[in-house]
Amino acid sequence: MAARTDVFQSPDYFLVDELLTEEQKLIRESVRNYVKKEISPIIEDYAQRAEFPQQIVKQLGDLGCFGPTVPVEYGGGGLDGGGGLDYISYGLMMQELERGDSGVRSTASVQGSLVMFPIYAYGSEAQRKKFLPKLASGEWLGCFGLTEPNHGSDPSSMLTNFKDAGDHVILNGAKMWISNSPFSQVAVVWAKNESGDIQGLIVERGMEGFTTPTTHGKWSLRASSTGELVFDNVKVPKENIFPNVKGLKGPLGCLTKARYGIAWGVIGAAMDCYDTALRYSKEREQFGKPIGGFQLQQKKLAEMITEITKAQLLNWRLGVLMSEGRATPQQVSMAKRNACEVATNICRDARQMLGGMGITGEYPVMRHMMNLESVITYEGTHDIHLLITGMDVTGLNAFK
Ligand SMILES: Cc1cc2nc3c(=O)[nH]c(=O)nc-3n(C[C@H](O)[C@H](O)[C@H](O)COP(=O)(O)OP(=O)(O)OC[C@H]3O[C@@H](n4cnc5c(N)ncnc54)[C@H](O)[C@@H]3O)c2cc1C
Repeated sequence: MAARTDVFQSPDYFLVDELLTEEQKLIRESVRNYVKKEISPIIEDYAQRAEFPQQIVKQLGDLGCFGPTVPVEYGGGGLDGGGGLDYISYGLMMQELERGDSGVRSTASVQGSLVMFPIYAYGSEAQRKKFLPKLASGEWLGCFGLTEPNHGSDPSSMLTNFKDAGDHVILNGAKMWISNSPFSQVAVVWAKNESGDIQGLIVERGMEGFTTPTTHGKWSLRASSTGELVFDNVKVPKENIFPNVKGLKGPLGCLTKARYGIAWGVIGAAMDCYDTALRYSKEREQFGKPIGGFQLQQKKLAEMITEITKAQLLNWRLGVLMSEGRATPQQVSMAKRNACEVATNICRDARQMLGGMGITGEYPVMRHMMNLESVITYEGTHDIHLLITGMDVTGLNAFK
C-alpha cells in the first residue's frame, strides 16, 4: 500500500489553544510532527499486516513519551516527582499519538502509566534504578498484567498467585489480553500472596517457566501486539516484589493515570476522523454538488465538532485538576467513558460519510473505528465506568 500523505488540520472550535501555555503547545507540536513523519506514512500497512512497528519503541523513548509521570532523575518527564511536565502536556502527547493510531498511544500509555509509574510509586530504590532509565529511553519495553482469562472486570477474584520459597517466590497463573507482552523485556504482574493480598511483581523475560504467547485474529488494535503471560512455577526473586503497596489500590492507581491519557487520546482519533470527513465532504460530489452541502451530512459534521469541543474542554479541565492533585478517579472514569463514547460515534459517522471509501485503508477512519472498539473496552469497560459514576453520585454499589 502506498504511504499516505498526512494533511491533518486540528479542529479548535472554541479556541482551546488559548488555554494552553507555550510549552504545552511546543510539546504538542513535536509529537504531532513525529506522527506526521513516522507514524502516518507506515501505520496503515502495519495494521493491515497485523504487525507491531517495533521501531516506535525507541522513537517514543527519544521523544519523551514514555515516562512523563516519573522524575527526571530516572529518565522521566517529572510529572509526579516535581519539576518538569504537567498533566495537560501529558494529555496532549496522548491525543497526538492516538491521532496517529490507538495502538501507538497504547504502547506509550502502558509503558508510562502502567509499567514505569508503579515501579516509581510502589517500587524500591533498587527497582527504580534498575528498570526506569531503560524503560524511559525505550531500550526496554514493558507490559502490565492484571486481566486473566476468567477475571476481567472483576480483578479482585484473580487466581494468579505466588508462594514464599526463601529468597524468592514461586509464581503460577496466567494473564490474558496483555498489550505488548510478546515484545516486552519486563512485565508488571499483579498476583495474590499466600494471605490472598494482591501484590505487584516485576517478572523479567528469560525467567524459567515464563512465556508470552501472542494473541492472533484481532480486528482491532492490529498494529499493537497483544498476548498472554503464562507463569509455570516461575522463580521470582523477592527483590522484584513491590515493597510499598498491597491490595487492588496498586493496579487501580496506575489505571487512573492511564485512563486519563485515554480520555485525551481517543479525542485525537476523533479529530482525525472529523478532519478527514470534513475534507472529503467538500471534495466528493454527488447529485451535482459536494456531499457537504446536504443537510444530513452537515448534521453529522456539526454533531462531531460539538462533541469534540465538549470533550476538549472536559479534558483540559481534568488536566488542570490532575496537575493540582485534585482530580478524583471517578472524574477520570467519567472523562474516559465520555471520550470513548463520543469518539466511537464520530468515527462511525465519519466512516459512513466516506461511503465505500470509508472501509478502505486509503483513509484512516475504519482503522480508528475498529481500534476504538478495544479502547472502549480496556482499562474498565464502558459499563464499568458508568457504574463508577453511578456509585459516586448515589453512594450505592451496583457492581454486585
Ligand atoms: C486489545 C486489548 C488490550 C488489552 N490490554 C490489557 C493490558 O495491557 N493489561 C491488562 O491487564 N488487560 C488488558 N486488556 C483487558 C481489558 O482490560 C479487559 O478486556 C476488560 O477489563 C474487560 O474484561 P473482560 O474482557 O474479561 O470482560 P468481562 O469483564 O467479562 O465483561 C463482559 C461484559 O460484561 C459487563 N460487565 C462486567 N461486570 C459487570 C457488572 N458488574 N455490571 C454490569 N455489567 C458488567 C462488561 O461491561 C462487559 O460488557 C486488554 C484488552 C484488549 C481488548
